Amino acid sequence: MSEPILEIHDLQVDYPTRVGVVRGVDGVDLTVYRGEVLGLVGESGCGKSTLGAAIMRLLRPPGKIVGGEIVFQGRDLMKLNAEQMRRLRGAHISMVFQDPMTCLNPLQRVSDHIVETIRTHHPEVKVAEARKRAAELIDRLGIRAERLDDYPHQLSGGMRQRVMIGLALALNADLIIADEPTTSLDVIVEAQFLDQLRDLQKQYNLTIILITHNIGVVAELADRVAVMYAGKLMELADVFPLFDEPLHPYTRGLLKSVPNISLTDDSLQIMRGSPPDLINPPSGCRFHPRCPHAMPRCERESPPFTEIEPGHWTACWLYGE
Ligand code: SF4
Repeated sequence: MSEPILEIHDLQVDYPTRVGVVRGVDGVDLTVYRGEVLGLVGESGCGKSTLGAAIMRLLRPPGKIVGGEIVFQGRDLMKLNAEQMRRLRGAHISMVFQDPMTCLNPLQRVSDHIVETIRTHHPEVKVAEARKRAAELIDRLGIRAERLDDYPHQLSGGMRQRVMIGLALALNADLIIADEPTTSLDVIVEAQFLDQLRDLQKQYNLTIILITHNIGVVAELADRVAVMYAGKLMELADVFPLFDEPLHPYTRGLLKSVPNISLTDDSLQIMRGSPPDLINPPSGCRFHPRCPHAMPRCERESPPFTEIEPGHWTACWLYGE
């Protein structure tokens, strides 16, 4: 394993509402290593996107980090002021969102986005030089240089998403957080985009946190997988052990509910119940109301996140203390 680039300790994020406080992320501990793709998966509302936004300190109001530490390359992000965080974003940590049309300015050409990104962080770079870099960059992303002067609406969904990756590459970001990057793409474009992302990741040794509800995307790209449920981490392992021998009943349920072409009948296994209300989460293990293996203890006590085998962590009483 290479050096840690990001260390999250006991992170807690709250969203106050009129009827109570939603704890969107509850006591998450996670380390991300340089050059890896970490898949962050779970059902909608499990806290995975909140965790990504918290790392960037871009939580939607009234969301607030109320506890814990986010240490990026040795710097505690919670101690940086707004200007220091602004300089860090883009230059060191970049985010690729679900729908690039909401991130790219429809009135700016592709070249304007990339040139502005480069010159915001490196004002000494002349416009002509930044434009030359932009042309080289989109060429590497498989977009012809003459598309540099296109507006976002003139590009396909896959091209727009590649431009978003290009904005991260323009500044050699150390960490890319990609939040559901393929959700807005059709399956053909998704496959092409994932191929290209895999190539770029290997070529530039990119560190990526890949947030998705799509287990197939994780299987394609991730080195390790973290599974979240109701604001907590449930399991963390290398991708093959996690898919071959998932430990946590929630992970097993997630994997069994993926449509499989080899199914002999049309009965897809589904997980019973729904994710809990996070204003009043279940006591003990948060998964106990849906868990087929729940024991009396599960309702009373929250299981600790424990390393069961080297590199394979889970939070479940089925695995002893
Ligand atoms: Fe199920 Fe208990 Fe494990 Fe929770 S701790 S996943 S309820 S067996």
